[in-house]
Amino acid sequence: MYLYNSLTRKKELFVPNHPELVKMYTCGPTVYHYAHIGNLRTYIMEDVLEKYLRYAGYKVKRVMNITDVGHLSSDGDTGEDKMLKGAKREHKTVMEIAKMYTDAFFEDCRKLNIKRPDVVEPATNCITDYIQIIETLLEKGYAYRAGGNVYFDTSKLERYFVFNDFNAEDLDVGVREGVEEDLNKRNKNDFVLWFTQSKFEDQALKWDSPWGVGYPGWHIECTAISLKHLGEDMDIHCGGIDNAFPHHTNEIAQSEAFLGHKWVNFWFHVLHLNTNSGKMSKSTGEFLTVSLLEKKGYDPLAYRFFCLQSHYRKNLVFSYENLDNAVLAYNKLIDKITALDPKADGAVDEEMLRELKQRFVKGMDADLNTSLAITALYDVLKAKTNDHTKLAAIADFDRVLGLNLLEAADAKRAAQPEEERDPEIEALLAARTAAKKEKNFAEADRIRDELKARGIEIIDTPHGPRWKRI
Ligand code: AMP
Ligand code: ZN
Repeated sequence: MYLYNSLTRKKELFVPNHPELVKMYTCGPTVYHYAHIGNLRTYIMEDVLEKYLRYAGYKVKRVMNITDVGHLSSDGDTGEDKMLKGAKREHKTVMEIAKMYTDAFFEDCRKLNIKRPDVVEPATNCITDYIQIIETLLEKGYAYRAGGNVYFDTSKLERYFVFNDFNAEDLDVGVREGVEEDLNKRNKNDFVLWFTQSKFEDQALKWDSPWGVGYPGWHIECTAISLKHLGEDMDIHCGGIDNAFPHHTNEIAQSEAFLGHKWVNFWFHVLHLNTNSGKMSKSTGEFLTVSLLEKKGYDPLAYRFFCLQSHYRKNLVFSYENLDNAVLAYNKLIDKITALDPKADGAVDEEMLRELKQRFVKGMDADLNTSLAITALYDVLKAKTNDHTKLAAIADFDRVLGLNLLEAADAKRAAQPEEERDPEIEALLAARTAAKKEKNFAEADRIRDELKARGIEIIDTPHGPRWKRI
């Protein structure tokens, strides 16, 4: 598979460090609010990546953190902890909202067919791990203490801006509107590894440390949690594009300073879901959730389909009109699959199945081109082959796409009125459809007349023939 690597800004052939296991890490949600459908676009595309790696024959170990401490309202280390903000908003404790929003996040994932990572680790579980890494960074001279906090010293690195050629001036958080400059920092881009209570006295969760009672910075959690569960070499690190700077840039800085060698091979970043009025954001409180879509009558999997129709490296504009178009396409697809007959005579044509799979794989191997993979799905429906082969190909692709295609079609078939499932009439209808396909109209008409004589009228619909008693 060729996969775009944000680090090299190139599509590269994906080869894992260890042929038997792909090590994958995902930055998890900050659980101070519901996940919005933008966040979930990122998790859907990461899920597709994980499922495709498994489909391609790899074993995958995927780890995700849950940010329940240390993510401040500004990524430039200022403002208050988002968790505390959420707790105040809801008149609950920080741990109560962490639990509530973690559960809500996994419930959204379940509805969207996003597999739970093999390891899910809340940041508050790993305090001793952060302390150990920070101690080493201090010993190695990559960190310093100032004003009660511990900072990472970015001037000690040969290259700090690894993802892009940012101009340090542009990223000067000190001059950004509404962001206070932290005078303890030696360099503009230095970041906090450990905060002490001297800075935020009302912080709810605090732990003892060699530098005073306090709490970890946001970036150190992903370094420590991934090292703990995946070791020193990782294949793929994922996140939304906003994570590239400063979060992932800082993760790389501290991890490689700590390890003394390269850390992650591939950086997989998903571009944003925006609305016509701009970026969707949790902090403004104006955002769409899966529950809201459901209340409006949308099937969460239609949203998944909407995401899969476009490439993960392109911004995606959300509007109800765009979603409605995806719903129409998704329903039409399911109708076509419903018209296939799982009980028809015949067996899977293995050679044809291989050919159909090749088209799917070709799309997915091209930097996870899910829209090409969906085209491959339509190719299956148009293919000149029997229904068993088509159903086998759809089941195969859906292991990755996660659209519940066969289940949805089964449910539609089952919802048809009882009499429509009369096996004898169904068999005659299928024989008539086959005759029509072979342009044997005389036979098709004969079957129509035979049914008519029995008091049954055939109604041809875009979803295949239906029938009723006259
Ligand atoms: P958060 O819960 O804010 O830490 O974000 C969770 C994930 O969603 C991160 O990987 C973010 O990069 C990603 N993300 C945030 N906003 C968007 C958006 N509008 N579209 C897609 N992904 C997003
Ligand atoms: Zn992270």
